[in-house]
Amino acid sequence: MKVRPLIVLVLAVLAGLFLAPTASADVAGAAKRLDNLRDQPQRLRQFLLGMPKGTDLHTHLSGAVYAEAMIRWGAEDGKCVDTITFVSSFPPCTGNQVPLTAALSNTQLWDQILAAWSMREFRPDAFSGHNHFFATFDLFGSAFSGRQGDGLAQVTERAAYQNIQYVEPLITPQFGASLAIANQVGYIPDFATMRDAMLAAGITNAIPAASLTASSALTRRSDLQNCSSGEPASIGCKVRVRFDVQVLRNQLPAVVFAQLLFGFELMKADPNWAGMNMVQPEDAAYSTSDYSLHMRMVRYLRSVYPGEKVTLHAGELVPGLAPPSDLRFHIRQAVNVAGPERIGHGADLRWEQNPDQILRSMKSKGTCLEANLTSNEQILRLFGRRHPITDYVKAGIKVTLSTDDEGVSRTDLTQQYVKAVRQHGFGYRQLKRFAINGLRCSFLPPAEKQTALGEQGILFMEFESRFPSRRR
Ligand SMILES: [Zn+2]
Repeated sequence: MKVRPLIVLVLAVLAGLFLAPTASADVAGAAKRLDNLRDQPQRLRQFLLGMPKGTDLHTHLSGAVYAEAMIRWGAEDGKCVDTITFVSSFPPCTGNQVPLTAALSNTQLWDQILAAWSMREFRPDAFSGHNHFFATFDLFGSAFSGRQGDGLAQVTERAAYQNIQYVEPLITPQFGASLAIANQVGYIPDFATMRDAMLAAGITNAIPAASLTASSALTRRSDLQNCSSGEPASIGCKVRVRFDVQVLRNQLPAVVFAQLLFGFELMKADPNWAGMNMVQPEDAAYSTSDYSLHMRMVRYLRSVYPGEKVTLHAGELVPGLAPPSDLRFHIRQAVNVAGPERIGHGADLRWEQNPDQILRSMKSKGTCLEANLTSNEQILRLFGRRHPITDYVKAGIKVTLSTDDEGVSRTDLTQQYVKAVRQHGFGYRQLKRFAINGLRCSFLPPAEKQTALGEQGILFMEFESRFPSRRR
């Protein structure tokens, strides 16, 4: 973040001199203001837009980009779209494919692509939200290809506009390389032997390419936002960025292991890659049949790479979407077997075998929860009082709010805070805890995390000073 150190220092001193004695009164003022705005959605949104929200820890980069931008970038890059299936592709355009440029002047095609590539205009019907949501990624993939830096610029600018200091976007690095090694080595039940074989086969050879993915995205973002050119810079420049490795979990065991191993080696080699996650629908064929195996793979690799960070999609399920037997153990095994720093979703808590034991375990281990309210509503139809976020909060778990896929879902982090107030009745002090938990649970290196938390403290003092409560 390019907050000028002198300004930070001066603000910190001023805050210490003048604001500290009334800091608690200011929290009370902000809390009172929020309570007054609870039933005024427009003004509540403005209040929460201005509130420092720390970070969005659970955001898939491709899913965070709005489809409008993907159509434009695809058009510029000469990509195609199928007018029946709306699958994007590389040129030449054949059969039912037309150049994406056609969508710029054809409003009907433009609207059809947006509806296919996002949840725009989506009307829920049974689990069609789940299917429509996950299908989008296969449709826009080619249009977005090569535009990760452009996507990062969009995401960081939107974050800065919402007073978010840090984002940790998820990207799948070099899947083809891991797949090739997995096919070459095959599955070996002994993890240590399989790791040795994959290392010997050259799995780390793809690390430079994965590093280039991250560094060129950061450079492209910096160029687009004039972060170092001397021209007026975008507000997005001040948002800190680290990437998390996406491992595709609905794959054969050797392919999952190869991706996990590559991810750990990549994190060890390149500080731009701060953490790892497992993605794809948790209810899919291999995701369910191999779930326990995957958790044991993560546990083994964490023992080999103890310094690297992990977060796991766990419990993104509800009854009906998956058989009862699959609902009983995903969160528990993620927390107790794989032992990640964070889990994402945790939505099926009440259908797990022993929810109270899970909450106690998360509390004692310090496992954080990334709660994705809009995503859970769209994919799982889980919202309002059916959503377990209050159970986690009451149990003392470090909960933070995140978007999951703000582009596909057509939402943003501010909207998650609005939902936390309107659907769950949380007050300002709890929202502030969500924001602080986010930075605490982030995978920033310790010194940078402390700096970010210090900056957040100043941002909160500035924000709360707008709502002075009466002095006693
Ligand atoms: Zn996710």
